Amino acid sequence: MVLGTYKEALSARATDSKIQKVAQDGGIASALLIHALEEGIIEGAVVAGDPNDDWAPYPQVATNADEVLQAAGTKYSMSPNVFGIKEAARQFGLEKIGTVVVPCQMQGIRKAQAYPFSIRFIGDKIKLLIGIFCMENFPMASLDTFSEAMMDSSLNDVKKMDIGKGKFRINTTDGTKDIPLKKTHGYEQSGCNICNDYVAEWSDVSTGSVGSPDGWSTVLTRTDNGVDLFTSAVDVGLIETKPIEEVKPGLPLLEKLAKGKKDKSKKEIERRTKMGIPTPVLY
Ligand code: SF4
Repeated sequence: MVLGTYKEALSARATDSKIQKVAQDGGIASALLIHALEEGIIEGAVVAGDPNDDWAPYPQVATNADEVLQAAGTKYSMSPNVFGIKEAARQFGLEKIGTVVVPCQMQGIRKAQAYPFSIRFIGDKIKLLIGIFCMENFPMASLDTFSEAMMDSSLNDVKKMDIGKGKFRINTTDGTKDIPLKKTHGYEQSGCNICNDYVAEWSDVSTGSVGSPDGWSTVLTRTDNGVDLFTSAVDVGLIETKPIEEVKPGLPLLEKLAKGKKDKSKKEIERRTKMGIPTPVLY
């Protein structure tokens, strides 16, 4: 199963204009975190904040809707949210924690829950894991290069970043600028080239833009907890949905990209192994 195990696939978006205004795509991650906080499913969420307003993300603990919305929107450099979970439990004393992470972080968290060396008593406090589709991630120096050298804009002037339709795009005070994704290849984190999970296969709910029209997100509910939370958010009108079969490009594109990532990483693992470079065996 190239998309991992899931219960339902849908196209969805948050109905709240406050979420739509600041969130990426359909705002599903923000809407689910806010709903989980309001329902007491979690007491706090580890989110990727941008405390210095310079696109260098840092994990922050959000305990209300405003704090979730302050951190909304995708950052394309890594936020160490896994570290933030420990802090949420130890420093904030939270018993029920949620977070939004990329697939490699999701794998780390699930492994830590299964083998809780050094995070004893914390794994059980994680009640909600939302995974974001992820093809690659960039060091801050790469984002700086894209913005300053390739698009002639200071990172400080960037209001939003986005990857889609083959382009890396920034919205700045001067308008929208973009570069083709082929120009960004080689600037990603080296580990991304051997990563085989595009759709956060181990999450409660996975979400991302691919497969759905602009302003909507594709959602894969994977666990009973994920289904219950998503259904509840739909029932109270916080999220609206469309059958994935009725939207374009739909699941075929998501499956194509997920398979492409697995194939590419397999090839790279074989290449590195042949060169004698220590490489994790993922297959
Ligand atoms: S591509 Fe994989 S390794 Fe890179 S950030 Fe995304 S999930 Fe992590």
